[in-house]
Amino acid sequence: MTEPVFRFAPSPNGHLHLGHALSALLNARAAVALHGRFLVRVEDIDQIRCTPELERDMFEDLAWLGVPLDEPVLRQSEAFPHYRSALEKLQDLGLVYPAYLTRAEIKRFVKAHEEKGGLWPRDPDGAPLYPGDDAVLSEEEIQQRSQSDAPFALRLDMKAALSRIGEPLTWQEYGAEGPALFEPAKSIAVDPAAWGDVVLARKDTPTSYHLSVVVDDARQGITDVLRGQDLYAATSVHRVLQHLLDLPEPRYRHHRLILGDDGRKLSKSNRDTSLRSLREAGATHADLRKRIGL
Ligand code: GLU
Repeated sequence: MTEPVFRFAPSPNGHLHLGHALSALLNARAAVALHGRFLVRVEDIDQIRCTPELERDMFEDLAWLGVPLDEPVLRQSEAFPHYRSALEKLQDLGLVYPAYLTRAEIKRFVKAHEEKGGLWPRDPDGAPLYPGDDAVLSEEEIQQRSQSDAPFALRLDMKAALSRIGEPLTWQEYGAEGPALFEPAKSIAVDPAAWGDVVLARKDTPTSYHLSVVVDDARQGITDVLRGQDLYAATSVHRVLQHLLDLPEPRYRHHRLILGDDGRKLSKSNRDTSLRSLREAGATHADLRKRIGL
């Protein structure tokens, strides 16, 4: 087996919380258990919400956690040309189209549809599937937007992508912690249609989470993607993109989530569970490990 390479890929758009601590510690432990390396990737494509101060705080939190990081650190804001060439490859395959509906227009369309009694399909994150420009706009309006400075998103034509691939895809799901790390994989059927035509880039942002994550996992030589269960369904999109872009297929390991007292996933806006506020309140490593079940 080649040397396993794990990664922790946080976005510095807020402070790390208990869920990040679990993710970082599980990655570090798995890397040790499987004699691999552990890299960090700064997912800062959102240059407005991700700031140098938050990135600095993030590394401070990781140092406090005591996770041994290997070099080099990859910063997505420095890798835009790589995403652009991946996007061009998909464009050359004829699988990308500009979509002009704004979020508000999609919302209005879905609301009107549902008021008439029909349910509109949602993706696993709860966002409505893209209805297509022609569901809302006239041909002239589409033409006019395409010739003006109107905002747009570049979307993957999922139907065309799947028919190009022509075979059902799977991913291999392994355990994320403890003895399960060593157990054989379960083969999971990819369900990309659930996501519809995902966004690959926007007029002012040359990439999206889905596109950059597959490009970077390949660039960093990641063999094991160990991340939260909240990204389990996104793996379907990642497998499609890996296939289209000829990128290697990593092993996937999705870990349990830490829930707040309200039973919901932790969010960066909740200060009570941020690592800094816990630290400032005097929490020790042992307290932290107890709270995240390690
Ligand atoms: N940047 C993502 C997050 O903070 C994680 C991406 C991934 O692990 O694939 O949720």
